[in-house]
Amino acid sequence: MIASQLVTPGQLNTSWEDVAGLSLVIQEIRETIILPILQRNRRNASQLIHPPKGILLHGPPGCGKTLLARAIAQEAGVRFINLDVSSLTDKWYGESQKLSSAVFSLAAKIQPCIIFIDEIGILETMKQLPMMKAQFLQQWDGLATDHSNCILVMGATNRPQDVDRAIIRRMPAAFHIPLPSVTQRKEILKLILKSEDVNRDVNIDNLAMKTDGFSGSDLKELCRTAAVYRLRHLLLKGNELLDESDDEDIKPITVEDFVHSL
Ligand code: ATP
Repeated sequence: MIASQLVTPGQLNTSWEDVAGLSLVIQEIRETIILPILQRNRRNASQLIHPPKGILLHGPPGCGKTLLARAIAQEAGVRFINLDVSSLTDKWYGESQKLSSAVFSLAAKIQPCIIFIDEIGILETMKQLPMMKAQFLQQWDGLATDHSNCILVMGATNRPQDVDRAIIRRMPAAFHIPLPSVTQRKEILKLILKSEDVNRDVNIDNLAMKTDGFSGSDLKELCRTAAVYRLRHLLLKGNELLDESDDEDIKPITVEDFVHSL
């Protein structure tokens, strides 16, 4: 009906180490979300501390919201339901009311878990969704007062101003993930290039300075394109693609490759 994906912590393959330049937000997330989840099953757990039932990650596209959501689930050791509401079409109008019940009853069975809704603002713009939304909010409210379960609804959006106030109110924990600063870009570039063969003429500080306005996703694309450029010397050799018997080494990525890519 709606594309959704259930992932167990072991399958998430995303940890804090995959997220660069966001140590302050991660620290806040640890205290607000991870610690309250982890303490739940400890002896003498505090009854005063509960993870927030609604969490909003907001900021420009490609800055790591989805990456963070997956890392949070993995670090907290909870399952992750990735709910893609954008795949809902008019065709499924009659089914939409059943959807929220199905999602919450699945969540109740497999908890502790996070229900992740990317582009949560879409709930507003789809005309076939009011019933589903009303039911979703009702079930969400049921969670908010019941601390015996551990089901967290996490939404992500590029445009928090377009998200309905009724939804925003249910997300008391909100984290802004902005475009990376020069220092953050440096950390992201270092992470992306960690296992790449990069020539000594490539200066990561310079690269970070020249990429003002780039998101983490843009930086990844920049490095990927530079990595493609460095293969040109193989192609230029007689304009023939390498076959497996060709044992010429692939050269490191040079500053020239980055200049082309930029
Ligand atoms: P959208 O709003 O378009 O859904 P998003 O904010 O959810 O974007 P992601 O999908 O998490 O962004 O990021 C896309 C990719 O960019 C990531 O898979 C990762 O490769 C890279 N990336 C973005 N930010 C970071 C970061 N802070 N550290 C490491 N990689 C990053």
